[in-house]
Amino acid sequence: MKPARAYIGIGSNLDEPIRQVRQAFEALGHILSSGCVARSPLYRSAPVGGPPNQPDYINAVSALDTGLTPGQLLAVLRAMELARGRVRAVRWGPRTLDLDLLLYDQLVIDDPRLTLPHPRLHERAFVLYPLHDIAPSLIIPGRGSLRDLRTNCSGQGLIRLDSED
Ligand code: ATP
Ligand code: CA
Ligand code: CA
Repeated sequence: MKPARAYIGIGSNLDEPIRQVRQAFEALGHILSSGCVARSPLYRSAPVGGPPNQPDYINAVSALDTGLTPGQLLAVLRAMELARGRVRAVRWGPRTLDLDLLLYDQLVIDDPRLTLPHPRLHERAFVLYPLHDIAPSLIIPGRGSLRDLRTNCSGQGLIRLDSED
């Protein structure tokens, strides 16, 4: 069967976030029945929501071709978060690793346990910019072209890191 193209949003703001994101890229490359096809540059962003005075986030996006179902993939992502020591305390609170399933082909799922496309991806510069870096012509089901969404989402204080940072 033809694999699906999935996009994973990666975020970290604890315990050496740049290292966390690089390790996540590496781990995402080893998921069963899947292969990494692209990795975005890293970005630094100020926290949105959650408790005050959190450290900045490091964000990136990875593209996978996968034979897993969306539910199987989400379970793997959750296991990877737990393996990195993520604790779910406060909503949108600081975390060592957050892995969101942003898109799975053009699939639309309306379920709180797994919503596709990810329900907030279209309003987040820290997702739209790295996603555009690796897949500029994507259409986000129900939201329109990634290019337009990104253009309308500038000015959230996002900084692209140089690759040697
Ligand atoms: P946000 O969803 O705003 O990015 P968050 O990543 O901090 O916030 P989590 O605590 O990681 O939120 O996840 C909350 C719930 O979201 C999880 O229980 C998960 O089942 C659900 N969820 C729904 N759709 C998705 C998706 N596309 N990717 C990841 N988790 C999802
Ligand atoms: Ca998230
Ligand atoms: Ca999440």
